Amino acid sequence: MDSQSNKSNRHLQAGSRHAASPSVIVIGAGFSGIAAARALHDASFQVIVLESRDRIGGRVRTDYSLGFPVDLGASWLHGVCNENPLAPLIGRLGLPLYRTSEDNSVLYDHDLESYALFDMEGKKVSQELVSKTDVIRQDHSEDMSMQRAISIVLERRPDLRLEGLAQKVLQWYICRMEGWFAADADTISLKNWDQEQLLPGGHGLMVRGYLPVINTLAKGLDIRLSLRVTEIFRHHNGVKVTVEDGSTFVADAAVVTVPLGVLKSNCIKFEPRLPAWKEEAINGLGVGLENKIVMHFETVFWPNVEFLGVVADTSYGCSYFLNLHKATEHSVLAYMPAGQLARDLEKMSDEAAANFAFMQLKRILPNASPPIQYLVSRWGSDENSLGSYSYDIVGTPHDLFEKLRTPVDNLFFAGEATSMDYTGAVHGAYYTGLMAAENCRMRVLERYGELDLFQPVMCEEVPVSVPLLISRM
Ligand SMILES: Cc1cc2nc3c(=O)[nH]c(=O)nc-3n(C[C@H](O)[C@H](O)[C@H](O)COP(=O)(O)OP(=O)(O)OC[C@H]3O[C@@H](n4cnc5c(N)ncnc54)[C@H](O)[C@@H]3O)c2cc1C
Repeated sequence: MDSQSNKSNRHLQAGSRHAASPSVIVIGAGFSGIAAARALHDASFQVIVLESRDRIGGRVRTDYSLGFPVDLGASWLHGVCNENPLAPLIGRLGLPLYRTSEDNSVLYDHDLESYALFDMEGKKVSQELVSKTDVIRQDHSEDMSMQRAISIVLERRPDLRLEGLAQKVLQWYICRMEGWFAADADTISLKNWDQEQLLPGGHGLMVRGYLPVINTLAKGLDIRLSLRVTEIFRHHNGVKVTVEDGSTFVADAAVVTVPLGVLKSNCIKFEPRLPAWKEEAINGLGVGLENKIVMHFETVFWPNVEFLGVVADTSYGCSYFLNLHKATEHSVLAYMPAGQLARDLEKMSDEAAANFAFMQLKRILPNASPPIQYLVSRWGSDENSLGSYSYDIVGTPHDLFEKLRTPVDNLFFAGEATSMDYTGAVHGAYYTGLMAAENCRMRVLERYGELDLFQPVMCEEVPVSVPLLISRM
């Protein structure tokens, strides 16, 4: 990766590398941006990537400060199978995956296979009770929030009403759903909550972190770090992109991959303004919040399960911990608050947030000793993300994801929120980057009348010759 910030080199002029090759600016060096840049670079385009952070990866962030890799953003490959567009690369790199579920996991949210539930007094909850609380799959024709749907079901079917511990387990179940969407149940759309396409093969934790994958994709690309784009000007035969310090870059086209939260904040000015249908998509889709509070302990003192859950009277009061010891052998638990709880915890200092997570753990394991180190993510207040990932809010049409992806003149859009099928996922982001690159290639070369000269960017993937390394302990 060439990262440089030499002002004199900042003007990317079409044709400056090879007289004939068209030029593209990719904005954002997350999975979608790097996928688009890689594909266009390999198709002989001149490409530069402008990235606001001082690192690549975006919402993929592998931290090494504990002495071993821990992902503070994405950590699962959703769909451990050859159909997953990232499988060939992960297989070739020999990166191990730890599968936390098969296709039919115990609870609806796909990533639980072994877990232990406790009440607030530290007493274990029977698993039989968990399976009896699956009342939220009842049918409704009009859209409403998941919260409302559950109340209606329980009003209509008093026999399903739960009391005492069973009611608390239901709240935990809702808490897990909120974690999946990174949003509160009173905003999640009943119509769309289970419309998501899931690749087969279950869910595999990237045992050594996601970073090696994006580092490999980024090799040899011209990536300019610490350059925040503030304005994108488009005209009939090109784009001019301005960054915070006033420098400009010009090219034939641009691929915009900044997160939906950043687009919503209007901190990038589009000139001329984006059409109404595009603004409607930006405003209409939801961005949720999920964070990780990673606690590293001296020793392992918890049960040998994948998840530890705490049930409570409300989903806000429930919590869960991912046991990373199972996958990595490091004595680490990751606490993962979502929705309002995550927003409230972002208002605290790192120390207070880590202490909150530890107190939740103490409730169920009173003899727990404090963590020796901790890491706290803040995806909501980070100006480079302004949220964790997108989701369907009640009443918004699902085609908004497609509208978000649709190009506007020579501006192409990619990123997890532009994926119709794999919203909120790394492989979804990656795939949209490839699609944007191909659309961009077609459009730019159509104008140049040189369609045959450049390689297609979405050529058939080479079949996986190296199998994925999957383990379970
Ligand atoms: C806590 C958490 C857990 C997750 N867990 C999983 C998981 O287990 N599995 C999974 O598949 N997915 C998971 N995801 C989602 C996954 O991380 C994202 O879907 C994916 O990484 C998004 O990639 P992207 O390219 O669309 O966006 P990003 O990775 O956000 O890339 C966009 C880039 O644009 C840059 N940028 C922003 N503003 C500007 C600007 N003005 N100028 C220039 N650059 C700018 C950003 O710095 C960033 O690098 C998780 C996300 C979070 C936050």
